[in-house]
Amino acid sequence: MNDRARSGAAFAAAIHDEDAAKFAALRENMIERQLVRRGIDDPGVLMAMRSVPREEFVRANLREFAYEDAPLPIEAGQTISQPYIVALMAQAARIRAGDRVLEIGAGSGYAAAVIAAIGAQVFAIERHAELAELARDRFARLGYANIELRVGDGSVGWPEAAPFDVILAAAGGPSVPALLLRQLVTGGRLVMPVGDTQGSQRLLKLTATGQDNYESEDLGPVAFVPLIGKHGWSTSDARTPSPALDDGNDTDDHDEASILASIREAAVPLPEFDDPAFGRAFDDFAAARVILLGEASHGTSEFYLARAAITRRLIEAHGFNIVAVEADWPDAAAIDRHVRLKPARDDEAPAFQRFPTWMWRNAEVAGFVEWLRRHNSGRDPALRAGFYGLDLYSLNRSIRAVIDYLEGVDPEAARIARHRYGCLTPWAKAPAEYGHLALNAGYGMCERQVTDTLRALLERRLEYAAHDGESFLDAAQNARLVRNAEAYYRAMYYGTAESWNLRDTHMFETLQQLLAARGTDAKAVVWAHNSHIGDARHTEMGWTRGELNIGQLCREHFGEQAVSIGFGTHAGTVAAADDWDAPMQVMQVQPSLTGSYERLFHDAGHARCLCDLRAGRTGRLHERLARSRLERFIGVIYRPDSERLSHYAEAVLPRQFDALVWFDVTRAVDALPAPGRSGGVPDTWPFGL
Ligand code: SAH
Repeated sequence: MNDRARSGAAFAAAIHDEDAAKFAALRENMIERQLVRRGIDDPGVLMAMRSVPREEFVRANLREFAYEDAPLPIEAGQTISQPYIVALMAQAARIRAGDRVLEIGAGSGYAAAVIAAIGAQVFAIERHAELAELARDRFARLGYANIELRVGDGSVGWPEAAPFDVILAAAGGPSVPALLLRQLVTGGRLVMPVGDTQGSQRLLKLTATGQDNYESEDLGPVAFVPLIGKHGWSTSDARTPSPALDDGNDTDDHDEASILASIREAAVPLPEFDDPAFGRAFDDFAAARVILLGEASHGTSEFYLARAAITRRLIEAHGFNIVAVEADWPDAAAIDRHVRLKPARDDEAPAFQRFPTWMWRNAEVAGFVEWLRRHNSGRDPALRAGFYGLDLYSLNRSIRAVIDYLEGVDPEAARIARHRYGCLTPWAKAPAEYGHLALNAGYGMCERQVTDTLRALLERRLEYAAHDGESFLDAAQNARLVRNAEAYYRAMYYGTAESWNLRDTHMFETLQQLLAARGTDAKAVVWAHNSHIGDARHTEMGWTRGELNIGQLCREHFGEQAVSIGFGTHAGTVAAADDWDAPMQVMQVQPSLTGSYERLFHDAGHARCLCDLRAGRTGRLHERLARSRLERFIGVIYRPDSERLSHYAEAVLPRQFDALVWFDVTRAVDALPAPGRSGGVPDTWPFGL
């Protein structure tokens, strides 16, 4: 093996380790949030769920969703069961090591692997040979020896292997086949979904108490794929809707019609963006101290243009003086110097060169930035509105900014800071590796150093700020960012919620710092994705993943002084990538799904409008929309192929947002080219074009 190949293999192994660590963390998180909190406490079941890698039982393109709280589609139009349901069935059936267990509907083989991990002897039946083959491969590869799997109709059981201590059916039939019950030992348990419609059943548990005597228990409503066979549904009437792909919309027509009527009644049509009436349409919200403006993707022109028009109005007519956006602090600081007519720093690089560049390097943002500079130019410097970044992906540049600042005001402090940050600098350009190492080390290797640097800076606030308050604020914010980013990259390996929460808490903390720095009259407009600004407590993020966001924190802190306005669209084009760090593409946005909020607004028929969603404002719209539905979230990445799983989540829109801005058809943002080579020429700054 030559060196290059060897390092390639080492790299692959490192990626694999990293993957394994990530999945292990997600699995732990699933155990805690989806199982323990819902009452799964059987130690054998928890141990088994902890040991089976669910990511190995799904298609490669769905691995990242392996620990979602949902069934997922597998081959042959079937599904892998939701983790909680697998655990619930195993716990209800009281499976113990040494039990003989029949599983009907092995599918991916996941549940069979869990039962085997408890220590039972598993007999599994699957009617699709294709699935059985895949499952067998997995058992062999992962080392599950105590599973016998055959292809056939499980509704008749497995008489040659009977009797069983436990029978589990992973597919729903119209009734419990008597033939199956007879294959149980006395004291044996059968757990099976039963219902007279396909795709919606009750989970029943039957315990054999004596010959032909059974006790029955109802474990609640479930949605399984149908059991197709002699004692299940006949193949001919088989529809196999996958619960994961079902939109769950059971609203009847009458309800739907009254919801649409309510939307039509509430909708205020919006004019062109440059018509002053556009901004004025939002005057009713302007008494708030913080107005959060969302977006349903990171690459839609209309969302940027609308936010710009609203923000212009808020700055001109309502005293807003802070524009805080979901961008890195140092990039936004360069824009801030430009819009507040301050000189660029020496060797200042053009802003927004990190992926995803189009998110802020676009003609829509550039237009707003130039407007803000013109607006500010006639004003007293203290009254000029500023432009700030809330995000924390600038570890390297923020470290440099703190040291540069200290070199100017306190060279001895700069020396100490450089030494302390030296702990992190080896990873400053690949901070995820630091997180991984710290995880292995078992503690925050550089935590003390970054905290001490921030503390030292803040302790000398008065002395430093006496030179120049703005520069001090900038440096302190960079030091705060470094401290929070250090924790963020470590948390990445504990599961998604922790790192997400640290990031949104950092955004909120930054907003508070800005409001404090700009004085008691300060008012802020925030531009960030719907997933950040819509109150997470009313979305799947909060319900099942334990995630919070800046929208929630603002409401909790500012009450009615915070207003959150979401954005939505039905179809059109969007600028996005199909993977992280991949090139930007202009992609088609698929028409919104039936049953989603987007589809309702599309059906209501307005091309562009504003709907006040607050209770008591516009008829019964708030109440009529208050039943949870799917909502679409497109970020930097858009994957139309797995759109339902990748981009839709359940939410209660009128609780998440105070208002919704709707554009039925939208187009991709107008991305600016990469900065020219000349760099630093004043009239091309800050975008370097
Ligand atoms: N336990 C599986 C769930 C798979 S979904 C998992 O964890 O992945 C249910 C499975 O039951 C499907 O794969 C379907 O093909 C299968 N099935 C439906 N009717 C069946 C029958 N009569 N006999 C055997 N398998 C059946």
